[in-house]
Amino acid sequence: MIKLSDRLMAMEESATIAMSRKSRELKAEGKDIISLSLGEPDFFTPQFIKDAAVEAMDNNFTLYTPVPGYDDLRESISLKFKRDNGLDYTKDQIVVSTGAKQSIANVVLSIVGPGDEVIVPAPYWVSYVEIVKVAEGTPVVITAGIDNDFKITGKELEAAITPKTKMLIFSTPCNPTGSVYTKEELYDLACVLKKYPHIVVISDEIYEHINFIGKHESLAQFPEVYNQVVTINGVSKAWAMTGWRLGYIGAPKVIADACNKVQGQFTSGTCSITQKATIAAMKADPIVLKDMITAFNNRRKLVLAALNDMPGVKANVPVGAFYVFPEIASFFGKSYNGFTVHNADDMCLYLLSEALVALVTGDAFGDPNCIRISYAASEETLTKAMDRIKQALAKLA
Ligand code: PMP
Ligand code: GLU
Repeated sequence: MIKLSDRLMAMEESATIAMSRKSRELKAEGKDIISLSLGEPDFFTPQFIKDAAVEAMDNNFTLYTPVPGYDDLRESISLKFKRDNGLDYTKDQIVVSTGAKQSIANVVLSIVGPGDEVIVPAPYWVSYVEIVKVAEGTPVVITAGIDNDFKITGKELEAAITPKTKMLIFSTPCNPTGSVYTKEELYDLACVLKKYPHIVVISDEIYEHINFIGKHESLAQFPEVYNQVVTINGVSKAWAMTGWRLGYIGAPKVIADACNKVQGQFTSGTCSITQKATIAAMKADPIVLKDMITAFNNRRKLVLAALNDMPGVKANVPVGAFYVFPEIASFFGKSYNGFTVHNADDMCLYLLSEALVALVTGDAFGDPNCIRISYAASEETLTKAMDRIKQALAKLA
């Protein structure tokens, strides 16, 4: 009898991936499911990136690459950091991985050990807490509620710091809330963090380009904390390259070296063809993303208008990423057809069976009063989904 490790047994399955699998299965059974569960752009990878991939194959870039990524790729990322974020990262401060997910895991495994505390402001992206648990760290969740635009302040951060604190992990723009930290808000966090230079911060900025309020702000821009911040980014979201698997970090050299070492044992460098194609994305002017961002913004407005028209639903106004994270706690205790909605998990099950819409429970993101809607779908699909949700919610009494 095979016995799985305690480490594996303590790990939760990714709720985003579980829900998208479930909706795929139901669709295969012939059910008309609308899946708004996975955070994945519904656009195709731009042609110039695909062309660069073909060229890479034709030029036989098909063998092992340096573990942290090809030199020319890391040089193009270094220039991107400077151009878009005003950040100075030399090539040897950059490590390219098999998705930002692996970048985060590399950093956590490099820094966090048994008993170390990692502050994770909730709502958080599903995988942060599980990755910390794999490293045998202790996630310390602090909650930023809907009334605070789901963002924490420096004061709240400082209150959670103990002698065991080793790390802070957060995302801006945030998955699942769509909240974006302003420069002033980041500076407020930086003023606290600079007093604790041993605390490493993972600033996950993978949604940087999907921002409806103008300029993206990076935490590492503040010299006071530059030496303790790891900036995470990748091509999955803005460049619609989820399947290509490439994420990267800009980090203090000691952390980049550590990630290089971890990756050298776990996976080696990511796909050679993906790396060469990513150079084309890094060199492109982000202005080419304008139409996609406009499309996301129109969808955001559509979904928000629909949610505001649903009694009992309280929606925050997201200003980045492609998610809305409405609070639905006013329905808890209500029933329809013998099914009672006790919590956000139940609400997702109810909407899946009654509205045939797949969403993700807020529990997976550390907020049990909310559900996550990914609006990376066409306006037609979103309109249909919102109508179905509205009707299903109206039945609960
Ligand atoms: N961070 C956040 C906040 C995300 O939403 C995702 C989802 N893909 C990732 C990291 C990981 O991205 P990937 O591994 O596709 O680069
Ligand atoms: N990050 C996306 C999401 O939150 C993709 C799924 C995943 O990587 O977990 O839905």
